[in-house]
Amino acid sequence: MKKQTDPRMHSAEHILNQTMDRMFGCGRCFSAHIERKKSKCDYHFDHDLAADEVAEIQDRVNRVIGDDLRVTESYVAKGKAEVLYNTDKLPASVDSTVRIVHMGEYDACPCIWDHVKSTREIGGFRITTTSYEDNVLRIRYKLSTPENASNT
Ligand SMILES: [Zn+2]
Repeated sequence: MKKQTDPRMHSAEHILNQTMDRMFGCGRCFSAHIERKKSKCDYHFDHDLAADEVAEIQDRVNRVIGDDLRVTESYVAKGKAEVLYNTDKLPASVDSTVRIVHMGEYDACPCIWDHVKSTREIGGFRITTTSYEDNVLRIRYKLSTPENASNT
């Protein structure tokens, strides 16, 4: 059964994952805990983040949010999705067709959850803390309320 996630927080997770993979080649988070007020994502990683790395991740994520990219979906056959995308986190109940969620041209990822309609609705992205243990980097983040939210 589908559980609720907060669309703003969860959409921010998509952008954060793409940003982390572009900067560090670490892939998307292998575990995420998304709540309305604060969320956390865990990555297989080789070091804790330095302050300048945290700042750059925040800058990049906020730039994508500020670009107000349209969030769209497309559908591909499961076999094709498994070649093009990481489908590890899809539930086994997804059988023939996989929904791919696009954040403009920035990110595309198979996903079953709800998202914002465009990235500006997410609001300001801020990393609160990071921690590192046993080759796992945990990033905790919060969002501020979006200015001029077009869909509330
Ligand atoms: Zn999603």
